[in-house]
Amino acid sequence: MIYKADGIIDAFGNEINLWQTKESYRDAPNILLAGRFHGDEPEGEFVIRHMMRELAKKSYVSPYNIYFLPCLNPSGKKLFTRANGRGVDLNRNYPTQNFSSQSVNPHTKSLFAGSPASEVETRFMMDIVEKYKFVRILSVHSDLHLIDYDGPARELAVQFSQKCGYRLVDDIGYPTNGSFGTWAGIEKQIPLLTVETPKGRTEAQMHKIMAQLHEAIADFCQLQ
Ligand SMILES: [Zn+2]
Repeated sequence: MIYKADGIIDAFGNEINLWQTKESYRDAPNILLAGRFHGDEPEGEFVIRHMMRELAKKSYVSPYNIYFLPCLNPSGKKLFTRANGRGVDLNRNYPTQNFSSQSVNPHTKSLFAGSPASEVETRFMMDIVEKYKFVRILSVHSDLHLIDYDGPARELAVQFSQKCGYRLVDDIGYPTNGSFGTWAGIEKQIPLLTVETPKGRTEAQMHKIMAQLHEAIADFCQLQ
């Protein structure tokens, strides 16, 4: 069973939902698997929905309650753009000390980052992080084929890298002012892994990504 734990409607009438498997719910720490901050990165949503379906089907043991946010950016998904429907890069919109209204990234030359927490998607993420007090977060992007981490997550990142074979970097190599990792990982000190999958645009590529990541994610969730 899967049930909706929380949700909002974005500026265009799309639903953004946080899910939870009923089997796992109890008085235990919460963790989050989140994807599709960027509408043109379907890989993260694919991976998270896959894990969600799998865990909903069977009973499993984990020391955590596992929450799933497969798609933070449904308006960007419809347009297949990095930004949301308002033209804002949702992974640069957090009210961090280093906030900048310009998103510099390797995918688009530059993009608007809005004003701090100007987007409803960002405020929803901030609200659920406050409400559920996640003790570790996995954020899935594409398509740089590496693992980056923020906050006290180096050991977790090393383990994850060993399981899936993705290269671990200490720094992604370009500025990420106002990113979710900066806000949640560095400023709130929540252990946070950012996984950048290889490109997965065909069904076969998606399944290959899932095969590489499955054990690493199961490990991240401490599934038994
Ligand atoms: Zn991304």
